[in-house]
Amino acid sequence: MTAPADQRTADDIATLRSWIESCGPGGMVFFGGAGVSTESGIPDFRSTGGLYSQKYSYPPETMVSHSFFEARPQEFFQFYFDRMIAPEAKPNQAHKKLAELEQRGVCRAVVTQNIDGLHQVAGSRNVYELHGSVHRNYCTGCKRFFNLEETMQLHQAATDGVPRCPDCDAIVKPDVVLYEEPLDEEVITGAVQAIAQAELLVVAGTSLVVYPAAGLLRYFQGDKLAIVNLSPTSADKSADLCINAKVGEVFGW
Ligand code: ZN
Repeated sequence: MTAPADQRTADDIATLRSWIESCGPGGMVFFGGAGVSTESGIPDFRSTGGLYSQKYSYPPETMVSHSFFEARPQEFFQFYFDRMIAPEAKPNQAHKKLAELEQRGVCRAVVTQNIDGLHQVAGSRNVYELHGSVHRNYCTGCKRFFNLEETMQLHQAATDGVPRCPDCDAIVKPDVVLYEEPLDEEVITGAVQAIAQAELLVVAGTSLVVYPAAGLLRYFQGDKLAIVNLSPTSADKSADLCINAKVGEVFGW
């Protein structure tokens, strides 16, 4: 682990850790974005030089849209399995610490914009996945469930790369929220309730520009809002603490 960049960052990290350690039962909620998984080797697909490359003929936002999935499933799945899946990725220090904090009764819930499922791999149970998960896949015909490994096998077995249900031959669609698709109401409600009950809200690894992140923060009515991000966010001015550091560094104790 690298040392904090300066003494102020080190002090801020110490402050946040003391807030977390002195939090009441279920008092902490963690809201995370792509920056939580970058240290697991999963690139932020919204940042320049990240997931999106020049290799494809369409802009990335187009390729992960619902209409593109409907119109060009072959190219959708080529991009999806090439750039959005990281089956070898492992939880990092932040995922592990949050799972431990949940087990200790400190962390009420994790709300995440990530689709990699690494919080659950690390052991967290109360996770609200705003954008879905690559680990859940459903047949668009008979609704049969497939895990990631099974879906990858269907993808590899298909001549056109489009995973199809062995039962009814309909396309198997990842349970990932594409552009133009609504978020899951139940997930949103759970996330809102958790945030509304938090005394300490830690927002980490997100610039809060992706819908509905900034809106969800409005439900927070607790004492302390802490932001951990490598660049400024829209919520910095209302935060009690802004830490300019990697998420894994902050949660590495
Ligand atoms: Zn089916």
